[in-house]
Amino acid sequence: MTSKPATSKPETPSGPAEWAPATRLVHGGTLRSQFGETSEALFLTQGYVYESAEQAEARFKNEDPGYQYSRFANPTVSMFEERLRLLEGAEACRATATGMAAVTAALLSYLSAGDHVVAARAMFGSCRYVIEDLCPRLGIAATLVDGRDIEAWKAAIGPNTRAVFFETPANPTLDLVDIAAVSAIAHDAGALVFVDNVFATPMLQRPLEHGADVIIYSATKHIDGQGRCLGGAVLGTQKFVDDHLSVFIRQTGPSISPFNAWVLLKGLETLPLRVKAQCENARRIADHLADHPAITKVLFPGRDDHPQAELARRQMTGSGQVVTFSVNGGKAEAFGFLNALQIVKISNNLGDAKSLVTHPATTTHQRLKPEARAELGIIDGMVRLSVGLEDADDLIGDLDRALAASR
Ligand SMILES: *Cc1c(COP(=O)(O)O)cnc(C)c1O
Repeated sequence: MTSKPATSKPETPSGPAEWAPATRLVHGGTLRSQFGETSEALFLTQGYVYESAEQAEARFKNEDPGYQYSRFANPTVSMFEERLRLLEGAEACRATATGMAAVTAALLSYLSAGDHVVAARAMFGSCRYVIEDLCPRLGIAATLVDGRDIEAWKAAIGPNTRAVFFETPANPTLDLVDIAAVSAIAHDAGALVFVDNVFATPMLQRPLEHGADVIIYSATKHIDGQGRCLGGAVLGTQKFVDDHLSVFIRQTGPSISPFNAWVLLKGLETLPLRVKAQCENARRIADHLADHPAITKVLFPGRDDHPQAELARRQMTGSGQVVTFSVNGGKAEAFGFLNALQIVKISNNLGDAKSLVTHPATTTHQRLKPEARAELGIIDGMVRLSVGLEDADDLIGDLDRALAASR
C-alpha cells in the first residue's frame, strides 16, 4: 500500500500525508495559537466572538471559515479529528462524545425508514441494541448474519440494503469478517460498509484499504488507553461527512467535550508504542494459556490455531491485545479465577494500560438470551482478557496463580 491514499486531502503544512504514521500521530493536525505552545492547547470554550455582525453572518452562511459554536466544531476537537484522519488516510473525520454516539450518528445520519441494514451478529452489546432494537423502531429493517459466512452476507444483502455494519475482530469471540469480500457484495447492492474497528485499532487494520466506506472508533479504548475519557470518531469520505454526519452532529449534539478531545489527541501520540507493547504481551499470554491444562480454548487472531488465522494475516498487521479463553468448567470456575487475580483487574473496559478481565456471559452479553449467547459461542467458562502494559512475566504469574487457586 502506498503511504498516500488517493482519497487524502491536499497537503497541509501541519500534517503532510507522506509522513509515516508515528510522525503524523505526534505532529499531525496541530493548530498552534499565537503563543507558540509546544503541547496542543485546550480550547475550553462553548462559543466564539465575531469581529462584526457581518462576520457572524458570513460564518453562518459558511462563507467565513472560523468557528461558531462547540456543538458544531471546536479547535481542540478539530486537532483530534485531523490527527486521526491523517493516520487513517480518510477524507474526513468527526469526533463524538462516545463510541456509541459514533456508531449511532454514523448509521442514523445515513439511514431512513424503509432502508435495510445487514450486520454481523457477533458485536459489542450496545451496537446490537442500535441495530436490532433501535433501527427497526425507526422503520429501518435489520438482518443479523454470521459475519464469518460469506454466503450468509450474499443471501441477506438485497436491493433495499443501504448499510452493512460489522466489527472485526468481534467482541468477545474475536471472530473476523472478511472486509474485502463483504465490501464487494455490499457495493454491488449499492450499500455503504461501516466497520467498527475498535478491537484492531487504527494501527493494526486499515479497513478503507480493503474497501470499507466508514470507519468507527470508540476512542475510549486504545486511543485514550489510560482509562480516563470517553470519546468516539467516525471517518469516511468528505461527501458522507458533509452530506450526512456533520449535519446530524450539528443538529442533534453527540459532540465531544474539548477536554476529552484534548486527552485523546495526546493519547494518539503514544498509540503505536502502546499497541505494539500490548500486542507483544498478549501474544506471550495467549501462547502460555494455550498450553495450560486448566484452559480448554484460546481465541487469539495472532495464533495459527485461530479458526480464521489466514484471514487475520491477510487483513491485519498485528494480533490485537485481547485474548479470549475458556477455563475448564463453567461460571463458578470462571468467577473463581477472576476473583483470585491480583494484578489483572475485573472491568468490562479494554485497551487500557491496566490489564482488565471480564466474564462476557454475565456482563457485556448478559442482555442476550442464552440461545443468542450459545449462537455466538459465548459459553459460561469464557473469559475476555484485555492485556495491558504491565510486565508480561508478572501477568503470566498472576494468571497462573489465579488458575491454580480456582481449581
Ligand atoms: C466500547 C466499544 C464501543 C462503544 O464505545 P463507548 O466509547 O463505550 O461508547 C463500540 N464498539 C466496540 C467494539 C467497543 O469495544
